[in-house]
Amino acid sequence: MAYEEQRLQVLNAAREIFSSNLVTGTWGNVSMRAPGEQRLIITPSGMNYAAMEALDLVVVDFNLKVIEGQYKPSVESPLHMKIYRKRPEVNAIVHVHAPFASAFAVARKNIPVLIEETAQVVGHEVPVAAYAHCGTDQLADNALKTLGNDKKAVLLANHGLVALGDNMMMP
Ligand SMILES: [Zn+2]
Repeated sequence: MAYEEQRLQVLNAAREIFSSNLVTGTWGNVSMRAPGEQRLIITPSGMNYAAMEALDLVVVDFNLKVIEGQYKPSVESPLHMKIYRKRPEVNAIVHVHAPFASAFAVARKNIPVLIEETAQVVGHEVPVAAYAHCGTDQLADNALKTLGNDKKAVLLANHGLVALGDNMMMP
């Protein structure tokens, strides 16, 4: 099994967002960059997080062609792939529908830097990207535009939150 370490980190993060109620059902998605390659390891589409195993994750290239895996990659794969393409320092991406973040996303209000964690971990106000339908290239492009070259988190209007990191570790 290629990318075993990354697979385990993606799996652990996927289980964590589910058990922390940052997503419900099979929503949300998690990925990591395959080290040194134009590929990513991403959660499959529509699979229950509690039942997910490392081998269920999908490896896709930067054209979203499936390299390894028997399931369909997350519907938000274009979003993840385009971020890795544009931001070489990013190695991990988590997308959640966290209730409070989603409330800001619905209100289309930036999350201000008010609490210590935001200041230390994110370091900037979390802006809202223009609305686009789930799973579309337009959604990915809108998010990328708002993320620019240095932002670590973005809200997707009427949808949820995307966070980027150079690794998957919890700060
Ligand atoms: Zn979503």
